[in-house]
Amino acid sequence: MLSVSEAEGIIFNLIQPLNNQYDTEIVDLFAAESRVLASVVASQLDFPYWDNSAMDGYAVCYADVQQATPQQPAILEVIEEIPAGYQPKSTIQQGQAARIFTGAVMPKGADTVIMQEYTQREENRVFILTAPTKPQEFVRQRAAYYQAGKQLLPPGIMLHGSEIAVLATAQCTQVSVYRRPRVAIFSTGNELVAPDQPLQPGQIVDSNQYALAALVRQSGGEPLILGIVPDEPAALEKAIAYAVSNADIVISSGGVSVGDYDYVEEIIKSLEGKIHIQAVAMKPGKPLTVATFRNQVIYFGLPGNPASALVTFWRFVQPTIKKLSGLVEGWQPKFVKAFTAQELRSKSKWETYIWGKLDLQNGIYKFQPAGGNQSSGNLINLAQTNGLAVLSVEQTLVSPGEEVQVLLN
Ligand code: AMP
Ligand code: MG
Repeated sequence: MLSVSEAEGIIFNLIQPLNNQYDTEIVDLFAAESRVLASVVASQLDFPYWDNSAMDGYAVCYADVQQATPQQPAILEVIEEIPAGYQPKSTIQQGQAARIFTGAVMPKGADTVIMQEYTQREENRVFILTAPTKPQEFVRQRAAYYQAGKQLLPPGIMLHGSEIAVLATAQCTQVSVYRRPRVAIFSTGNELVAPDQPLQPGQIVDSNQYALAALVRQSGGEPLILGIVPDEPAALEKAIAYAVSNADIVISSGGVSVGDYDYVEEIIKSLEGKIHIQAVAMKPGKPLTVATFRNQVIYFGLPGNPASALVTFWRFVQPTIKKLSGLVEGWQPKFVKAFTAQELRSKSKWETYIWGKLDLQNGIYKFQPAGGNQSSGNLINLAQTNGLAVLSVEQTLVSPGEEVQVLLN
């Protein structure tokens, strides 16, 4: 059976990221949060756009004020007042100054700003009480941060507040981003019933579809929800064929074990899908099918047990969606080292995932496994967890206070 890292290697190699020309859309900058930038953004403008003042004070000629002291202030004539947003009209000559405010454009002739705290105003004269430490003090020079034409942001990054601020500053309010990967989701099983239907004896509520749709969204994908499909070859074939021709990634849950009603693999083959993975040595999650179709769609047949479906999603599907969505960095699963607060045990010869809560306390990660039953059928205690401790194949025990790798989810 494949190890988790072998399976990961196979899966990550299968992923073809979206195309940076065809798989893009233009979004308004207000809608750009968490989208992946598809093209280089260059500035049309210098930034700052013009020389401007970094302080409230007086715009002066350095030569006039370089000797100023409280005892022998430089006395200048104030010839103009320049609030922010105003285009100065005059040119500052020797012996003159302009009243200026933070962000306002520097007048011609002036090269330095004196903070108002170092001045004293008397009608149209200002007394400069302290010399600036250098010419150009408190002037933000045009293009000091960057010049027109500069590449501000590379493609393949995720946009958040700071990148969006850069785009707005560069007047880029319509931005080219990758479309969200389309992820078809369906559940398989004769026993399943939608959560809004009455439960008949023997039935089980389909939680996977809801959980997976949420996780797909959280990973940057657009879920395409196809419902519950019974364990019948004809119905499954129809669902899989539809999903494969309408999505970039297909996720089904259930029907990938070795039971008599587990048809998923057989149908993938009949639709000319190529099976790459049939099982992975991990707990929970062992029966995992991964296939590709000729149109490069990746198919994940997740195990039906709710915890198994989620753990395999976090471990393999989440990075797949992120890589496919055009992200150049940071799509890989993230692990941190944490100290476990309680003992962690694994009976198996498989890599074991134990869910719990990861907390940063005084700069150190602590892991608290979820209490109660960590059975793959029990998803109640998955709620409010944010990490999965990973016990490698050889590790059967991690004692309290010892270190363990934790997968962030
Ligand atoms: P399977 O992988 O189809 O053998 O299913 C394994 C177990 O998970 C069975 O107990 C199923 O009833 C349960 N199960 C399968 N699919 C779902 C689902 N969509 N939501 C909740 N439980 C499920
Ligand atoms: Mg089933």
